[in-house]
Amino acid sequence: MFCALLFFHVSFSGAFTAFAETREEIRKLYKAGVDYINESNFEAAEAVFKKIIEAGYEFAEAYNNLGYARMKLKKNQEAIFEFKNALRLNPDFADALNNLGLIYSENIATAQMGLQYLKRAVEQNRDNASYHDSLGLGYHRLGFIKEAEVEFKTANLIDRTLITPVYNLGYLYETNDRQKAAIAEYLKVISMQRDHLMANYRLFKIYSKIDDRPLMANYLFSIFKILKTGSRVDKSERAAVENEIICNLKAFIVEVAINFNAEIKKMTLVESSSSGGEKETFIAPSEYLISYEEFSKKNLFYFFEGTELRCPETGKYYTNYINHVVCPVHGSLSIFTDKVQNIKQLRNSYHRNICAEYRKMLDYALFLKDIDRPGEKAGAIDAQTIKSLVEGGYLRDLPECPVGGKFSLDANGFVTCSIHGVSAR
Ligand SMILES: [Zn+2]
Ligand SMILES: [Zn+2]
Repeated sequence: MFCALLFFHVSFSGAFTAFAETREEIRKLYKAGVDYINESNFEAAEAVFKKIIEAGYEFAEAYNNLGYARMKLKKNQEAIFEFKNALRLNPDFADALNNLGLIYSENIATAQMGLQYLKRAVEQNRDNASYHDSLGLGYHRLGFIKEAEVEFKTANLIDRTLITPVYNLGYLYETNDRQKAAIAEYLKVISMQRDHLMANYRLFKIYSKIDDRPLMANYLFSIFKILKTGSRVDKSERAAVENEIICNLKAFIVEVAINFNAEIKKMTLVESSSSGGEKETFIAPSEYLISYEEFSKKNLFYFFEGTELRCPETGKYYTNYINHVVCPVHGSLSIFTDKVQNIKQLRNSYHRNICAEYRKMLDYALFLKDIDRPGEKAGAIDAQTIKSLVEGGYLRDLPECPVGGKFSLDANGFVTCSIHGVSAR
């Protein structure tokens, strides 16, 4: 919400030291600073208000606006300092009370104190929708759900055109397991502003949670469109959404890489097993608490650019021990990782086929041997049996179930695998 004042009272305090700027120039500067804030150019706004104050024109609005620009630039400690400066000059300055309250509310350790400032802002001006909206955020932060709901609704009653209370109410519902109500509020937001990034994003998240593929795809498409064309998109909101989507996509690739790599190692093992005595070295995807040092050590990304496959924010991935790769902050999206399930299925049927091929080979070798030397049929197929088959020239490759199943002969004299059973005939 925008809480910088457009007008300022010409009641300067503080001693005027050396300044080249006239009052008229300061007025122009101030106007430019407010314009910068409206254009979300907070670096420029910060510089302007800093300049005004340094010129000796100390007034609460300039401090408040400087604080606001710094708050937007995530310089929270400096912003707090400026809001306090504003309140030093004008203790009942509602905008500064509101901004200071908001910034304190961000941190759970100071949220209680923040709530007191937010309440004071509302007391100063009960007809200001933004202050009620902020107070709602303060309540939500501390878990006062009912109170938060009342404030968001009050803000909406005061100003029907203000979008943030509607969005915040939706988020309140979403975080309190009232998905239907949340969806209704987010849809209201979109009816007010079609290219509202966060409302589209929250809807995308809700529909991925309840696994509604068509709507999920619909909102993901909207998000991409807004990110591409939206000029009004807030920088930090854009970064948050982009990071999360990129993170989820990368988690998917990492998951594929782990699965794929396990496959490659297994195949290498099968190929080299004729040399005998090989230890099983392949990596089960669920073994990982993923560290990138591990990745490079075990050469997991030998055809991916491994170092790029990090969450842009946390730089980490974990597996959640159900074989899905997740980020500690962003989790993972079923829309992506579900595909890995297909890869696992593919891998399973691939293994099944290899096993079946080997069993067929064994069946045939045993059949040939039986013709040559009838009556020598063995019940178990152990290493010795296989060795003698190879030495007898009945087998060229070393048959082995790719997932470690043990071969034996069933009642009908066919080769069966302890994992894959006997081939359908
Ligand atoms: Zn992440
Ligand atoms: Zn098998």
